[in-house]
Amino acid sequence: MSPTNHDAFWMPFTANRQFRRTPRMLVAADGMYYTSEDGRQVMDGCAGLWCVNAGHNRPRITQAVQKAIATLDFAPTFQMGHPLAFQAADRIAALAPGDLNHVFFCNSGSEAADTALKIAIAYHRVRGEGARTRLIGRERGYHGVGFGGISVGGISGNRKLYGTLLAGVDHLPHTLDLERNAFSKGLPPYGAELADNLERIVALHDPSTIAAVMVEPMAGSTGVLPPPVGYLKRLREICDKYGILLIFDEVITGFGRMGGTPFASEKFGVVPDILTCAKGITNGTIPMGAAIARDHVYEAFMNGPEAGIELPHGYTYSGHPVACAASLATLDTYAEENLFERAGDIAPYFEEAAHALRGLPNVIDIRNVGMVAGIELSPRPGAPGARAYEIFDRAFHKGVLIRYTGDVLAISPPLIIQKSEIDQLFGTLADILRTVD
Ligand code: PLP
Repeated sequence: MSPTNHDAFWMPFTANRQFRRTPRMLVAADGMYYTSEDGRQVMDGCAGLWCVNAGHNRPRITQAVQKAIATLDFAPTFQMGHPLAFQAADRIAALAPGDLNHVFFCNSGSEAADTALKIAIAYHRVRGEGARTRLIGRERGYHGVGFGGISVGGISGNRKLYGTLLAGVDHLPHTLDLERNAFSKGLPPYGAELADNLERIVALHDPSTIAAVMVEPMAGSTGVLPPPVGYLKRLREICDKYGILLIFDEVITGFGRMGGTPFASEKFGVVPDILTCAKGITNGTIPMGAAIARDHVYEAFMNGPEAGIELPHGYTYSGHPVACAASLATLDTYAEENLFERAGDIAPYFEEAAHALRGLPNVIDIRNVGMVAGIELSPRPGAPGARAYEIFDRAFHKGVLIRYTGDVLAISPPLIIQKSEIDQLFGTLADILRTVD
Protein backbone atom coordinates (compact mmCIF):
# COMPACT_ATOMS: atom_id res chain seq x y z
CA MET A 1 0.00 0.00 0.00
CA SER A 2 1.23 3.47 -0.76
CA PRO A 3 2.35 5.26 2.40
CA THR A 4 0.95 8.55 1.09
CA ASN A 5 -2.61 7.77 0.09
CA HIS A 6 -3.89 8.38 3.64
CA ASP A 7 -6.23 5.42 3.47
CA ALA A 8 -5.10 3.68 6.65
CA PHE A 9 -6.38 6.02 9.37
CA TRP A 10 -9.95 5.06 10.20
CA MET A 11 -10.94 8.37 11.74
CA PRO A 12 -13.05 8.51 14.92
CA PHE A 13 -16.45 10.22 14.89
CA THR A 14 -15.72 11.40 11.35
CA ALA A 15 -17.37 11.08 7.96
CA ASN A 16 -14.25 9.38 6.61
CA ARG A 17 -15.06 9.60 2.89
CA GLN A 18 -16.25 13.19 3.09
CA PHE A 19 -13.11 14.13 5.03
CA ARG A 20 -10.81 12.61 2.46
CA ARG A 21 -12.50 14.67 -0.23
CA THR A 22 -12.17 17.91 1.77
CA PRO A 23 -9.48 17.39 4.41
CA ARG A 24 -8.97 19.84 7.26
CA MET A 25 -5.45 19.29 8.53
CA LEU A 26 -3.71 20.91 11.50
CA VAL A 27 0.07 20.83 11.79
CA ALA A 28 0.97 23.06 14.76
CA ALA A 29 -0.57 24.98 17.65
CA ASP A 30 0.39 27.84 19.90
CA GLY A 31 -1.68 29.85 22.36
CA MET A 32 -5.13 30.45 20.90
CA TYR A 33 -4.21 29.33 17.37
CA TYR A 34 -3.72 26.28 15.26
CA THR A 35 -1.69 26.36 12.08
CA SER A 36 -3.40 24.60 9.20
CA GLU A 37 -1.50 22.51 6.69
CA ASP A 38 -1.79 25.32 4.16
CA GLY A 39 -0.13 27.71 6.60
CA ARG A 40 -3.16 29.64 7.93
CA GLN A 41 -3.70 30.66 11.55
CA VAL A 42 -6.96 29.16 12.79
CA MET A 43 -8.35 30.34 16.09
CA ASP A 44 -9.18 27.48 18.41
CA GLY A 45 -12.79 28.17 19.31
CA CYS A 46 -13.33 24.80 20.97
CA ALA A 47 -10.15 24.17 22.99
CA GLY A 48 -9.27 21.30 20.66
CA LEU A 49 -12.01 18.97 21.85
CA TRP A 50 -12.99 20.90 24.98
CA CYS A 51 -9.65 20.07 26.55
CA VAL A 52 -6.97 22.69 25.92
CA ASN A 53 -8.18 25.02 28.66
CA ALA A 54 -4.85 26.85 29.11
CA GLY A 55 -4.25 27.27 25.39
CA HIS A 56 -1.67 25.47 23.32
CA ASN A 57 2.03 24.90 23.69
CA ARG A 58 2.40 25.95 27.30
CA PRO A 59 6.13 25.79 28.12
CA ARG A 60 5.70 24.59 31.69
CA ILE A 61 3.66 21.60 30.57
CA THR A 62 5.94 20.79 27.65
CA GLN A 63 9.01 20.92 29.85
CA ALA A 64 7.42 18.78 32.56
CA VAL A 65 6.51 16.15 29.98
CA GLN A 66 10.01 16.20 28.51
CA LYS A 67 11.58 15.83 31.93
CA ALA A 68 9.22 13.08 33.01
CA ILE A 69 9.74 10.95 29.93
CA ALA A 70 13.51 11.29 30.24
CA THR A 71 13.43 10.36 33.94
CA LEU A 72 10.85 7.62 34.31
CA ASP A 73 9.26 6.73 31.00
CA PHE A 74 6.96 4.15 32.51
CA ALA A 75 6.32 2.60 35.88
CA PRO A 76 3.53 0.22 36.81
CA THR A 77 0.99 1.28 39.38
CA PHE A 78 -0.24 -2.26 40.08
CA GLN A 79 1.36 -3.15 43.42
CA MET A 80 4.05 -0.55 42.65
CA GLY A 81 4.10 3.21 42.85
CA HIS A 82 5.92 6.31 41.74
CA PRO A 83 5.84 9.76 43.35
CA LEU A 84 4.20 11.68 40.51
CA ALA A 85 1.02 9.57 40.68
CA PHE A 86 0.61 10.26 44.39
CA GLN A 87 1.37 13.95 43.93
CA ALA A 88 -1.06 14.32 41.04
CA ALA A 89 -3.82 12.51 42.96
CA ASP A 90 -3.26 14.77 45.98
CA ARG A 91 -3.46 17.89 43.86
CA ILE A 92 -6.59 16.80 41.99
CA ALA A 93 -8.31 15.74 45.22
CA ALA A 94 -7.45 19.12 46.74
CA LEU A 95 -9.13 20.83 43.80
CA ALA A 96 -12.27 18.68 43.92
CA PRO A 97 -15.04 19.88 46.23
CA GLY A 98 -16.15 18.33 49.52
CA ASP A 99 -14.68 15.01 50.49
CA LEU A 100 -14.06 13.89 46.91
CA ASN A 101 -10.65 12.74 48.10
CA HIS A 102 -9.81 9.50 46.30
CA VAL A 103 -8.56 9.61 42.74
CA PHE A 104 -8.62 6.54 40.49
CA PHE A 105 -6.59 7.25 37.36
CA CYS A 106 -7.38 6.08 33.85
CA ASN A 107 -6.64 7.41 30.38
CA SER A 108 -9.78 9.01 29.02
CA GLY A 109 -13.24 10.23 29.80
CA SER A 110 -14.70 6.97 28.54
CA GLU A 111 -12.59 4.94 30.92
CA ALA A 112 -13.43 7.35 33.72
CA ALA A 113 -17.14 6.76 33.07
CA ASP A 114 -16.82 3.00 33.08
CA THR A 115 -14.60 3.16 36.15
CA ALA A 116 -17.17 5.24 38.02
CA LEU A 117 -20.03 2.93 37.05
CA LYS A 118 -18.06 -0.14 38.16
CA ILE A 119 -17.13 1.51 41.46
CA ALA A 120 -20.79 2.38 42.04
CA ILE A 121 -22.04 -1.17 41.49
CA ALA A 122 -19.18 -2.67 43.51
CA TYR A 123 -19.77 -0.15 46.32
CA HIS A 124 -23.24 -1.50 46.95
CA ARG A 125 -22.05 -5.06 46.64
CA VAL A 126 -19.27 -4.70 49.23
CA ARG A 127 -21.79 -3.12 51.57
CA GLY A 128 -24.10 -6.08 51.24
CA GLU A 129 -26.57 -4.56 48.77
CA GLY A 130 -25.62 -6.66 45.77
CA ALA A 131 -29.05 -6.24 44.16
CA ARG A 132 -28.27 -2.60 43.43
CA THR A 133 -26.92 -2.98 39.93
CA ARG A 134 -29.23 -0.78 37.91
CA LEU A 135 -27.76 2.37 36.37
CA ILE A 136 -29.72 5.48 35.47
CA GLY A 137 -28.47 7.87 32.82
CA ARG A 138 -30.18 10.58 30.85
CA GLU A 139 -31.34 11.10 27.31
CA ARG A 140 -28.75 13.09 25.35
CA GLY A 141 -26.13 12.21 27.95
CA TYR A 142 -22.63 11.50 26.68
CA HIS A 143 -20.23 9.45 28.75
CA GLY A 144 -17.78 8.35 26.12
CA VAL A 145 -17.78 5.22 24.08
CA GLY A 146 -17.16 2.25 26.36
CA PHE A 147 -20.03 -0.17 26.80
CA GLY A 148 -20.89 1.34 30.17
CA GLY A 149 -20.76 4.87 28.81
CA ILE A 150 -22.90 4.24 25.74
CA SER A 151 -25.43 2.25 27.77
CA VAL A 152 -25.91 4.95 30.38
CA GLY A 153 -25.45 7.64 27.76
CA GLY A 154 -28.50 8.70 25.84
CA ILE A 155 -27.44 9.26 22.25
CA SER A 156 -29.18 6.79 20.00
CA GLY A 157 -26.67 7.29 17.19
CA ASN A 158 -23.89 6.11 19.50
CA ARG A 159 -25.86 3.10 20.74
CA LYS A 160 -27.84 1.59 17.92
CA LEU A 161 -25.03 -0.24 16.11
CA TYR A 162 -23.76 -2.01 19.18
CA GLY A 163 -26.23 -4.66 20.18
CA THR A 164 -27.91 -5.06 23.52
CA LEU A 165 -25.52 -2.94 25.59
CA LEU A 166 -25.65 -3.21 29.40
CA ALA A 167 -28.78 -4.69 30.87
CA GLY A 168 -30.63 -2.87 33.62
CA VAL A 169 -30.22 0.71 32.49
CA ASP A 170 -32.90 3.37 32.46
CA HIS A 171 -32.85 7.03 31.46
CA LEU A 172 -34.12 10.33 32.75
CA PRO A 173 -35.55 12.70 30.16
CA HIS A 174 -33.18 15.34 28.81
CA THR A 175 -33.59 18.91 29.95
CA LEU A 176 -33.70 20.83 26.69
CA ASP A 177 -36.90 22.85 26.43
CA LEU A 178 -36.82 25.39 23.64
CA GLU A 179 -40.40 26.42 24.18
CA ARG A 180 -39.81 27.64 27.70
CA ASN A 181 -36.10 28.32 27.82
CA ALA A 182 -34.94 29.52 24.39
CA PHE A 183 -32.28 32.24 24.52
CA SER A 184 -31.92 32.04 28.29
CA LYS A 185 -28.56 33.18 29.61
CA GLY A 186 -26.77 30.95 32.08
CA LEU A 187 -28.92 28.29 33.72
CA PRO A 188 -32.37 28.04 32.14
CA PRO A 189 -35.16 29.00 34.53
CA TYR A 190 -37.56 26.16 33.78
CA GLY A 191 -37.18 22.42 34.21
CA ALA A 192 -36.09 21.61 37.78
CA GLU A 193 -39.15 19.36 37.99
CA LEU A 194 -37.67 17.10 35.30
CA ALA A 195 -35.48 15.68 38.06
CA ASP A 196 -38.64 14.29 39.64
CA ASN A 197 -38.70 11.70 36.88
CA LEU A 198 -36.13 9.95 39.04
CA GLU A 199 -38.90 9.36 41.57
CA ARG A 200 -40.93 7.70 38.83
CA ILE A 201 -37.99 5.50 37.78
CA VAL A 202 -37.28 4.59 41.40
CA ALA A 203 -40.90 3.61 41.90
CA LEU A 204 -40.85 1.50 38.76
CA HIS A 205 -37.68 -0.47 39.55
CA ASP A 206 -37.62 -0.21 43.36
CA PRO A 207 -34.72 1.63 44.97
CA SER A 208 -33.17 -1.62 46.15
CA THR A 209 -32.17 -2.35 42.54
CA ILE A 210 -30.60 1.00 41.69
CA ALA A 211 -26.87 1.63 42.06
CA ALA A 212 -26.30 5.06 40.59
CA VAL A 213 -27.50 8.00 38.57
CA MET A 214 -24.98 9.45 36.15
CA VAL A 215 -25.32 12.82 34.44
CA GLU A 216 -23.17 15.58 33.07
CA PRO A 217 -23.81 18.71 35.14
CA MET A 218 -23.94 20.47 31.77
CA ALA A 219 -24.37 18.16 28.80
CA GLY A 220 -21.79 19.30 26.29
CA SER A 221 -21.45 16.88 23.42
CA THR A 222 -25.14 16.74 22.60
CA GLY A 223 -25.40 20.44 22.08
CA VAL A 224 -24.67 22.40 25.26
CA LEU A 225 -27.55 21.82 27.68
CA PRO A 226 -27.01 23.77 30.90
CA PRO A 227 -28.97 22.34 33.84
CA PRO A 228 -32.20 24.13 34.74
CA VAL A 229 -32.00 26.13 37.97
CA GLY A 230 -32.51 23.74 40.91
CA TYR A 231 -32.37 20.57 38.80
CA LEU A 232 -29.09 19.14 40.09
CA LYS A 233 -29.99 19.82 43.72
CA ARG A 234 -33.23 17.95 43.22
CA LEU A 235 -31.39 14.96 41.74
CA ARG A 236 -29.06 15.00 44.74
CA GLU A 237 -32.00 15.02 47.17
CA ILE A 238 -33.73 12.10 45.50
CA CYS A 239 -30.51 10.09 45.34
CA ASP A 240 -29.94 10.71 49.06
CA LYS A 241 -33.50 9.73 49.88
CA TYR A 242 -33.05 6.31 48.28
CA GLY A 243 -29.37 5.53 48.93
CA ILE A 244 -28.47 5.92 45.24
CA LEU A 245 -25.01 7.17 44.30
CA LEU A 246 -24.85 10.32 42.20
CA ILE A 247 -22.11 10.48 39.58
CA PHE A 248 -21.23 13.70 37.79
CA ASP A 249 -19.39 13.39 34.52
CA GLU A 250 -17.24 16.51 34.52
CA VAL A 251 -15.10 15.56 31.56
CA ILE A 252 -16.10 18.80 29.84
CA THR A 253 -17.20 20.92 32.78
CA GLY A 254 -14.07 20.30 34.86
CA PHE A 255 -11.00 22.50 35.13
CA GLY A 256 -12.60 25.90 34.91
CA ARG A 257 -14.87 25.53 31.91
CA MET A 258 -17.92 26.70 33.88
CA GLY A 259 -16.09 29.83 35.04
CA GLY A 260 -15.00 30.74 38.55
CA THR A 261 -14.57 27.28 40.06
CA PRO A 262 -12.53 24.21 39.13
CA PHE A 263 -15.61 22.00 38.79
CA ALA A 264 -19.28 22.47 37.94
CA SER A 265 -20.11 20.64 41.11
CA GLU A 266 -18.85 23.56 43.18
CA LYS A 267 -20.31 26.13 40.84
CA PHE A 268 -23.78 24.59 41.06
CA GLY A 269 -23.49 23.72 44.76
CA VAL A 270 -24.03 19.96 44.46
CA VAL A 271 -21.39 17.42 45.43
CA PRO A 272 -21.75 14.03 43.74
CA ASP A 273 -20.52 10.76 45.25
CA ILE A 274 -18.19 10.16 42.32
CA LEU A 275 -16.92 12.76 39.86
CA THR A 276 -15.27 11.86 36.58
CA CYS A 277 -12.89 14.09 34.67
CA ALA A 278 -10.36 13.97 31.83
CA LYS A 279 -9.50 16.43 29.01
CA GLY A 280 -8.44 19.58 30.91
CA ILE A 281 -6.72 17.42 33.52
CA THR A 282 -3.59 17.58 31.33
CA ASN A 283 -4.65 20.49 29.12
CA GLY A 284 -5.21 17.85 26.45
CA THR A 285 -1.50 17.12 26.12
CA ILE A 286 -1.31 13.54 27.36
CA PRO A 287 -4.27 11.16 27.64
CA MET A 288 -5.55 10.98 31.20
CA GLY A 289 -8.82 10.62 33.07
CA ALA A 290 -9.90 10.10 36.64
CA ALA A 291 -12.83 8.94 38.73
CA ILE A 292 -12.79 10.76 42.07
CA ALA A 293 -14.69 9.16 44.95
CA ARG A 294 -15.90 10.59 48.21
CA ASP A 295 -14.63 9.24 51.53
CA HIS A 296 -17.64 7.04 52.20
CA VAL A 297 -17.34 5.37 48.81
CA TYR A 298 -13.62 4.66 49.16
CA GLU A 299 -13.89 3.57 52.78
CA ALA A 300 -16.59 1.02 51.95
CA PHE A 301 -13.92 -0.91 50.05
CA MET A 302 -11.30 -0.79 52.80
CA ASN A 303 -12.77 -3.38 55.12
CA GLY A 304 -11.63 -6.76 53.85
CA PRO A 305 -8.32 -8.51 54.48
CA GLU A 306 -5.44 -6.08 54.15
CA ALA A 307 -3.65 -8.24 51.59
CA GLY A 308 -6.73 -8.40 49.34
CA ILE A 309 -7.05 -6.22 46.27
CA GLU A 310 -10.09 -4.13 47.13
CA LEU A 311 -11.10 -3.11 43.61
CA PRO A 312 -10.15 -5.49 40.81
CA HIS A 313 -9.90 -2.74 38.22
CA GLY A 314 -7.19 -0.63 36.61
CA TYR A 315 -5.35 0.11 33.38
CA THR A 316 -1.72 -0.46 32.44
CA TYR A 317 -1.44 3.29 32.08
CA SER A 318 -3.37 4.30 35.23
CA GLY A 319 -1.27 7.08 36.72
CA HIS A 320 1.26 7.02 33.86
CA PRO A 321 4.25 9.10 34.98
CA VAL A 322 4.24 11.30 31.89
CA ALA A 323 0.50 12.00 32.22
CA CYS A 324 0.91 12.76 35.92
CA ALA A 325 3.73 15.18 35.16
CA ALA A 326 1.58 16.83 32.50
CA SER A 327 -1.29 17.10 34.95
CA LEU A 328 0.81 18.63 37.73
CA ALA A 329 2.24 21.21 35.33
CA THR A 330 -1.24 21.89 33.97
CA LEU A 331 -2.65 22.53 37.43
CA ASP A 332 0.31 24.84 38.13
CA THR A 333 -0.43 26.74 34.94
CA TYR A 334 -4.12 27.08 35.81
CA ALA A 335 -3.21 28.32 39.29
CA GLU A 336 -0.42 30.71 38.25
CA GLU A 337 -2.66 32.41 35.74
CA ASN A 338 -5.83 32.23 37.84
CA LEU A 339 -7.49 30.74 34.81
CA PHE A 340 -10.61 29.48 36.53
CA GLU A 341 -11.29 32.95 37.98
CA ARG A 342 -10.36 34.52 34.66
CA ALA A 343 -12.93 32.34 32.93
CA GLY A 344 -15.55 33.54 35.40
CA ASP A 345 -14.57 37.15 34.82
CA ILE A 346 -14.66 37.04 31.05
CA ALA A 347 -17.75 34.82 30.82
CA PRO A 348 -20.25 37.73 30.82
CA TYR A 349 -18.48 39.26 27.81
CA PHE A 350 -18.50 35.88 26.08
CA GLU A 351 -22.21 35.52 26.89
CA GLU A 352 -23.07 38.89 25.35
CA ALA A 353 -21.04 38.10 22.23
CA ALA A 354 -22.79 34.75 21.83
CA HIS A 355 -26.26 36.23 22.30
CA ALA A 356 -25.50 38.95 19.77
CA LEU A 357 -26.08 36.26 17.13
CA ARG A 358 -29.77 36.20 18.06
CA GLY A 359 -31.91 37.21 15.13
CA LEU A 360 -29.53 35.95 12.47
CA PRO A 361 -31.00 33.54 9.91
CA ASN A 362 -31.83 30.06 11.19
CA VAL A 363 -30.72 30.72 14.78
CA ILE A 364 -33.45 29.21 16.97
CA ASP A 365 -31.65 29.19 20.33
CA ILE A 366 -28.49 30.39 22.01
CA ARG A 367 -27.54 28.93 25.37
CA ASN A 368 -24.45 29.41 27.45
CA VAL A 369 -22.84 28.90 30.80
CA GLY A 370 -19.29 29.82 31.79
CA MET A 371 -17.05 29.58 28.76
CA VAL A 372 -19.39 27.40 26.71
CA ALA A 373 -22.01 28.49 24.24
CA GLY A 374 -24.34 26.51 22.01
CA ILE A 375 -26.04 28.04 18.99
CA GLU A 376 -28.91 25.93 17.76
CA LEU A 377 -29.96 26.22 14.13
CA SER A 378 -33.10 25.08 12.46
CA PRO A 379 -32.22 21.99 10.43
CA ARG A 380 -32.39 21.97 6.66
CA PRO A 381 -35.47 20.05 5.62
CA GLY A 382 -34.50 16.41 5.15
CA ALA A 383 -30.84 17.06 5.95
CA PRO A 384 -30.30 17.33 9.71
CA GLY A 385 -26.82 18.54 10.57
CA ALA A 386 -26.00 19.72 7.05
CA ARG A 387 -26.33 23.43 7.81
CA ALA A 388 -24.18 23.19 10.93
CA TYR A 389 -21.57 21.19 9.05
CA GLU A 390 -21.39 23.80 6.34
CA ILE A 391 -20.92 26.57 8.90
CA PHE A 392 -18.25 24.57 10.72
CA ASP A 393 -16.39 23.93 7.46
CA ARG A 394 -16.68 27.53 6.29
CA ALA A 395 -15.55 28.80 9.70
CA PHE A 396 -12.45 26.65 9.49
CA HIS A 397 -11.59 28.11 6.14
CA LYS A 398 -12.21 31.61 7.51
CA GLY A 399 -9.84 30.97 10.40
CA VAL A 400 -12.02 29.78 13.29
CA LEU A 401 -12.35 26.23 14.57
CA ILE A 402 -15.62 25.35 16.31
CA ARG A 403 -17.50 22.10 16.99
CA TYR A 404 -20.89 21.13 15.77
CA THR A 405 -23.24 18.39 16.81
CA GLY A 406 -26.49 17.84 15.02
CA ASP A 407 -27.56 21.39 14.25
CA VAL A 408 -25.90 22.95 17.26
CA LEU A 409 -22.68 24.93 16.97
CA ALA A 410 -20.60 24.56 20.13
CA ILE A 411 -18.10 27.18 21.21
CA SER A 412 -15.70 26.51 24.10
CA PRO A 413 -12.43 28.38 23.62
CA PRO A 414 -9.33 28.10 25.76
CA LEU A 415 -9.81 30.11 28.94
CA ILE A 416 -6.98 32.46 27.92
CA ILE A 417 -9.07 33.98 25.13
CA GLN A 418 -8.95 37.80 24.87
CA LYS A 419 -12.00 39.99 24.33
CA SER A 420 -10.80 40.95 20.85
CA GLU A 421 -10.60 37.24 19.99
CA ILE A 422 -14.12 36.67 21.32
CA ASP A 423 -15.25 39.44 18.96
CA GLN A 424 -13.38 37.87 16.07
CA LEU A 425 -14.80 34.41 16.81
CA PHE A 426 -18.44 35.44 16.98
CA GLY A 427 -17.97 38.04 14.23
CA THR A 428 -16.78 35.33 11.88
CA LEU A 429 -19.75 33.14 12.81
CA ALA A 430 -22.14 36.06 12.28
CA ASP A 431 -20.76 36.70 8.80
CA ILE A 432 -21.18 33.06 7.90
CA LEU A 433 -24.67 32.80 9.39
CA ARG A 434 -25.78 35.74 7.27
CA THR A 435 -24.79 33.99 4.08
CA VAL A 436 -25.57 30.32 4.65
CA ASP A 437 -28.99 29.30 3.46
N1 PLP B 1 -17.82 12.27 29.11
C1 PLP B 1 -18.08 13.48 28.60
C2 PLP B 1 -19.05 14.38 29.29
C3 PLP B 1 -17.46 13.89 27.42
O1 PLP B 1 -17.77 15.08 26.90
C4 PLP B 1 -16.54 13.04 26.82
C5 PLP B 1 -15.87 13.45 25.58
O2 PLP B 1 -16.19 14.43 24.95
C6 PLP B 1 -16.31 11.79 27.39
C7 PLP B 1 -16.96 11.44 28.54
C8 PLP B 1 -15.40 10.82 26.74
O3 PLP B 1 -14.09 11.21 26.88
P1 PLP B 1 -12.97 10.51 25.97
O4 PLP B 1 -13.24 10.91 24.57
O5 PLP B 1 -11.69 11.06 26.55
O6 PLP B 1 -13.08 9.04 26.18
